[in-house]
Amino acid sequence: MAKKTLAGCSPETLTHEVVVVRVDYNLPLDQNGEVVDDTRLVRTLPTIQYLIDAGAKAVLLSHLGRPEGRLDQALSLRRVAGKLQGALGSPVGFCPETTGPLAREAVQGMESGDVLLLENTRFCPEDTRNDPEWAEEIRYGSGLFVNDAFGTAHRAHASTQGIAEAVRAGGGEAVAGFLLEQELRFLCDTMVDPEHPFVAVIGGAKISSKIDVIEALLPALDRLLIGGALANTFFKACGWAVGDSLVEEDRIDTARSLMDLAGDKLLLPVDVITAPCIASGATTRVSACDEVRNGERIGDIGPRSVKSFADVLVGARTVIWSGPMGIFELAPFQAGTFEVAHAAASTADRGATVIIGGGDSAAAAVAAGIVDRITHVSTGGSAFLELLSGKELPGVGALSDR
Ligand code: ADP
Ligand code: MG
Repeated sequence: MAKKTLAGCSPETLTHEVVVVRVDYNLPLDQNGEVVDDTRLVRTLPTIQYLIDAGAKAVLLSHLGRPEGRLDQALSLRRVAGKLQGALGSPVGFCPETTGPLAREAVQGMESGDVLLLENTRFCPEDTRNDPEWAEEIRYGSGLFVNDAFGTAHRAHASTQGIAEAVRAGGGEAVAGFLLEQELRFLCDTMVDPEHPFVAVIGGAKISSKIDVIEALLPALDRLLIGGALANTFFKACGWAVGDSLVEEDRIDTARSLMDLAGDKLLLPVDVITAPCIASGATTRVSACDEVRNGERIGDIGPRSVKSFADVLVGARTVIWSGPMGIFELAPFQAGTFEVAHAAASTADRGATVIIGGGDSAAAAVAAGIVDRITHVSTGGSAFLELLSGKELPGVGALSDR
């Protein structure tokens, strides 16, 4: 790693010190505001435990949702503080302010080994504006800033980039926490010299969100498997009807030029699951890709496609997967994603490096019950895609060089 890390900070240097940590507790919530999945929180525990054990005073910053600079109780981190306390098995303080007199008092009152979560950074408009004065405020005089928020590392916000600069300008250090370090290690190291055959499985809703990563990976790839609604735009580029399926009409040319560029590397589905409507009780039919009827919608890849994708995955030594093969949230359309997930897991069992990224893909891996067998499941969505596309993440760029 070119950047300094928390692992490189010896515990003695942290004792009694205020250490500000940016975590990504932007956890998915249901309609009642209950946390649906606490993976991102659990993955930060090594960093927080390290600080507790070192006797530091850990001040945690995170955003939740998009309150757009206004206080919104539904997006308060109070509940998340409770979750963290449960997962950590030790007390976690919460302050209903991010900056202000209450927050300053709470930080000043901390003792060695304490953990304090401050309120949602995005209640303050200064965060997304990357306001330098506010960045100075949220550093609370600390000489060490730890970024452990990989999922937000692609944002140049005050709580990701600005604070790192403020701490360094004050003579301190900004370092990567254990989770951020792990993400960078897996994603960057794998890309430097991937073991072949190197296969990417790209699916999901939109070709526009995946085009950069496809183009960046393509030269190194041996096979590119395309599923999900993404494939529909390719079908259109082949001149086939897709009924009422989701298509990006303005990206048909993109799909066409990708087909030329990828040549034999590209493997598209040969069959799909269609239905007159996308619903949990929908009546489905298997259709060849060039025989989708008027009024039908494509919800998943078909069994022959699953077989051909699995055959490629069996022999792979490196796999990157971003985007589900179908609308896996609904039972009639989940088989494609789950079976490809199992094929990827079997490949990982045989020692291949398998990396899954993206919020929906990670959720699909959980639902398919294969997470524990995967080499690395990234906590990033856009950050994952941007890093693999070769872009520098502002939250990482602002950290101290080693
Ligand atoms: P990730 O979060 O893993 O990057 P995306 O956000 O790109 O994945 O895409 C996930 C979404 O794509 C899911 O909600 C899924 O239902 C949807 N999707 C997959 N296949 C289709 C399809 N054929 N038609 C419509 N939506 C689809
Ligand atoms: Mg998504």
